[in-house]
Amino acid sequence: MSPAKITASKKETSPSARTQDRQLKPRILVVASEVNPFAKTGGLADVAGALPHALLKLGCEVAVVMPKYKLVSPEKYKLKYEINGLSVPMGMGDMTADVLSTRLGDANAKVYFIQNDRYFDRDGLYGTPEGDYHDNAERFAFFCRSVLELIRALDWYPDVIHLNDWQTGLIPVYLKTLYADQHNFHNLKTLFTIHNLAYQGLFPKYILPMTGIRWEEFRHERLEFYDQVNFLKAGLVYSDMLTTVSPTYAEEIRTEEFGQGLQGVLTARSADLHGILNGIDYDEWNPATDKEIPAQYTVKNHDRKIESKRKLLQDLGLEFKPKTPVVGLVSRLTDQKGLDLIAEVIEPFLAMDVQFVVLGTGDQRYHTLFEELGKRYPDKLAVQFKFDNRLAKLIYAGSDMFLMPSRFEPCGLGQMIAMKYGSIPLVRKTGGLSDTVENLSPEGKKGTGFVFEKYAAEDLLFVLRRAVEAFNQPKIWKELVQRAMTQDFSWDVSARQYLDLYRSIQRK
Ligand code: ADP
Repeated sequence: MSPAKITASKKETSPSARTQDRQLKPRILVVASEVNPFAKTGGLADVAGALPHALLKLGCEVAVVMPKYKLVSPEKYKLKYEINGLSVPMGMGDMTADVLSTRLGDANAKVYFIQNDRYFDRDGLYGTPEGDYHDNAERFAFFCRSVLELIRALDWYPDVIHLNDWQTGLIPVYLKTLYADQHNFHNLKTLFTIHNLAYQGLFPKYILPMTGIRWEEFRHERLEFYDQVNFLKAGLVYSDMLTTVSPTYAEEIRTEEFGQGLQGVLTARSADLHGILNGIDYDEWNPATDKEIPAQYTVKNHDRKIESKRKLLQDLGLEFKPKTPVVGLVSRLTDQKGLDLIAEVIEPFLAMDVQFVVLGTGDQRYHTLFEELGKRYPDKLAVQFKFDNRLAKLIYAGSDMFLMPSRFEPCGLGQMIAMKYGSIPLVRKTGGLSDTVENLSPEGKKGTGFVFEKYAAEDLLFVLRRAVEAFNQPKIWKELVQRAMTQDFSWDVSARQYLDLYRSIQRK
């Protein structure tokens, strides 16, 4: 594989012109453990799948790397072997990876897949419903090291490696230690994005030798965290620049309440920490073009949402009642997403004139709770425990309101998708929810949703009641839906902000 194959332009230019050009339109390698549409458990995949497209539009040269999980179908995505037997030095000796590739959609960007069946040929990405895989440290240390060896093998050196979450946290450590003196690697800069501080990749210290990283890095001011190895902290300490996925979360994570123990590290790096709101890929999430819903619609004819509502209720076995609001929830079923709060208010909530549609997987106790409630309220509640993109879209389109009362929310995509589909978000004022949803004003003329502040059952119940009341005032509701649908959360703005940061890191 020669670099020319993935270089958009082969024009002959002088070295200084090339340097200038690369400063304006840098070469970016996005590294993530999940990328839409190949593998997804949450918003990270949406971001890693959509940002490259937006960067390409801005003229950057982009490639993406992720693991080759079992569920990534070689036939469906027309994967090609790029490299056989890439040698990957690990602490316990040399390992090998095969590298496959495909195009990202029809974009001029390649996606590389690191294949090693021992690590990635499994049903899950990070574990099973019973728990995380016991060898995740080894799996993702191997992934990190493979990415650097892939760069070398391709002889394609990016200006910035855009890293995402703990699974990629060792890459900057390798770069600043084992690769620091290696030709072509010393210029590589890193930007690390925190999608969720709650997942840190915390492992017992005995795994360190396996990574090949020396014990001298195992210090409090580096990657040690209460006598354990913390992959996320490694990313935060060794990367050149940090971002997180909303301005409010960027502030919150420097506090004890939201910092998950890393507030000190984050405060120390305040000057390099930026909040950039995730965008939404409107090619994927758009009721005007969505093939998964029975009747497409825009802000001008959003009354056609009713067809999705009818189908949704029919598919889930609930009676179609046009005048009763359908509340949707598409979410991981965890405390982070406010499920404990929902559990507290569910009885009085279901006593209102509402229908509640839930799609999600997560903690067993919430599966049990919803199963029991489903039996007790068969005409009001429908629950599906699975990950299902098609049904998710039908819920966004077929619901009138979208519930997202998160305890904390780095950015959150659900509320933005819901707004585009004219489903009014009911959210708590935290992180990205606070940056994207404006509370309906008392006279009903401003705002895009319903927002409550305190993480308390009565406050959630209050906005639920308020939302149902507003739903029963057709003029107010219609204008509210129109305002929500015309919000612009496209990637263009965010991608420009990333580009500015890439440029500023290059100047560092
Ligand atoms: P997080 O990444 O914390 O889970 P986000 O709101 O940022 O939350 O992103 C969640 C994404 O995953 C959205 O695109 C949402 O539609 C999708 N999603 C969540 N649960 C499911 C599910 N059970 N089936 C289909 N899509 C889901």
